Amino acid sequence: MSKSAAKKIQAIRGMNDLLPSESPRWQFFEAKVRQLMHRYGFDEIRTPIVEQTALFARSIGEVTDIVEKEMYTFDDRNGDSLTLRPEGTASCVRAAMEHGLLHNQTQRLWYQGPMFRHERPQKGRYRQFHQVGVETYGFDGPDIDAEVILLSARLWQELGLLEHVTLELNSLGSTEARAAYRDKLVAYFDQHHDVLDDDSKRRLTSNPLRILDSKNPAMAEMLNGAPQLMDHLDDESRTHFEQLKAMLDTAGIDYVVNPRLVRGLDYYCRTVFEWTTTALGSQGTVCAGGRYDGLVEQLGGKPTPAVGFAMGIERLILLLETLDLIPEEALGGCDVYLLPMDDNATIVALTLAEKLRSELPTLRLQLHCGGGSFKSRMKKADKSNAPVAVLLGEDELAEQAVTLKFLRDDREQLRVSQAELTATLQNLVPH
Ligand code: ATP
Ligand code: MG
Repeated sequence: MSKSAAKKIQAIRGMNDLLPSESPRWQFFEAKVRQLMHRYGFDEIRTPIVEQTALFARSIGEVTDIVEKEMYTFDDRNGDSLTLRPEGTASCVRAAMEHGLLHNQTQRLWYQGPMFRHERPQKGRYRQFHQVGVETYGFDGPDIDAEVILLSARLWQELGLLEHVTLELNSLGSTEARAAYRDKLVAYFDQHHDVLDDDSKRRLTSNPLRILDSKNPAMAEMLNGAPQLMDHLDDESRTHFEQLKAMLDTAGIDYVVNPRLVRGLDYYCRTVFEWTTTALGSQGTVCAGGRYDGLVEQLGGKPTPAVGFAMGIERLILLLETLDLIPEEALGGCDVYLLPMDDNATIVALTLAEKLRSELPTLRLQLHCGGGSFKSRMKKADKSNAPVAVLLGEDELAEQAVTLKFLRDDREQLRVSQAELTATLQNLVPH
C-alpha cells in the first residue's frame, strides 16, 4: 500500500465529532430547550442546510464579516452558487415567505441545527457550530421583544445560569435614524483617523457602526468619546425602547444598556441584545438577537416586523461544564446493569429485562451482552456506571430470584425474588 493510501483521514479542522461521552449533555440541553419552546407556544421549523448564496448575501449584507470571509460557498454540478448556512434567520424568512406563513398572520418559530463559518477555530469558536434560535413575525410592539428575552432568561434560570450571564441592550433606531447617525460617526472617525486600526479603516466606508464593536484597547478611549446612537434615535424607536425597558423592569430582568452594542449583521433595527458571560474568555456572547423589521421586504416580501435571537449551543454547554451545572443524571450511563452469568441465564435475563423495561419505563437498564469470564463481566458492570448490578447465576435461576450488588455503596448484597424485582428497583433507583 502506498504511503498516502495508509494515511488516516481526519475530520475537518473546526468541525467536531460529538462523542458518546458528551452527547448526554447535549441531549439534556436540547430537551430543556424543546420543552421551553413548547411551553411558550413556539413551533419548530427545519430548513435545509444549503441555500442559494444570494439569500445570505442579500440578507446578512455584503460588507459583513460573514459574507466577506466566513461563508462556505461552492458551485454545485449545475453551476449554481450554493452556501452552507452561516446562520438561521435568512433561511427562516425565505421558508416563511415561500410557504405563505407571513400572509395575514403572526408566527412564533424556533429552530436548531448546525451552522458553518470559516473562522479561526479556538475554544468556543468553530467552523461547524450549533445554534438554537427563535424568530417571530408580524409583531411590531415591544411586548414580543420582552417575550423572547423572558424566554431566554427562563432558560438560563432553569439551567442555573442566570446569575452568570448579563443582558446587554441597545436600540439601533430606524433605518433613517441609523443612516443619519452613521454620517455623524464617520465624521468623528475621520477626525481621529490616526487612532483607527487597519480593520477599522477598512470598515470606515463599508460598515462604520461595526467599528464601535472593536475590542482593540488602543482605540478604547477614542470610541468612548464617539457620538452615541442612543442620542440620535427617532421618537418611535425611543418610545419602543423605553417601553421594552419598563417591561423588563416589571418582570424583574436586570440589564445594562450598552450604547456600543451594534451587532454584526446589517438587518437589525431598533432593539438589539446580547447575553454575555465573563466565564468563557473572549468568546463571551452566548445568545444574541434583536429586531429586523426590514428583512422580509428586503428579500422581496411585504413589510413584516420581526424579532429573533440565536444562541450558541457549544458555548452554553462549555459554560455549564465550567460552572459544574450539568446534573448527575444528565451524564449518561445507566441505572441498572443486568448480568446473566451463563447462556441459560441469558435467555431468562432477556425476558426479565423486557419485563422491567415495560413496568419501569423511565428505568435505564443495560443487559450484559457478549459473554466473558466472571471477572470481565463484573468489570463491564462497573464500567457501565450503574449503581446497581442485578446478577443472575445458577443459584438465582433455581430460586427464580436475582442478586442485587451495589457497585457504588458499601452495602451488603441482596437476594430478591424475580417477582419482587420491579418493586425493589422502583424504590432503589431515582426517577
Ligand atoms: P461573535 O462575535 O462571537 O463572532 P457573532 O456576532 O458572529 O458572534 P451571531 O451571528 O450573533 O454571532 O450568532 C449567535 C451566537 O452563535 C453567538 O452569540 C455565539 O454564541 C454563537 N456563535 C457564533 N459564531 C460561532 C462560532 N464560530 N462557533 C461557535 N459559536 C458561535
Ligand atoms: Mg462572528
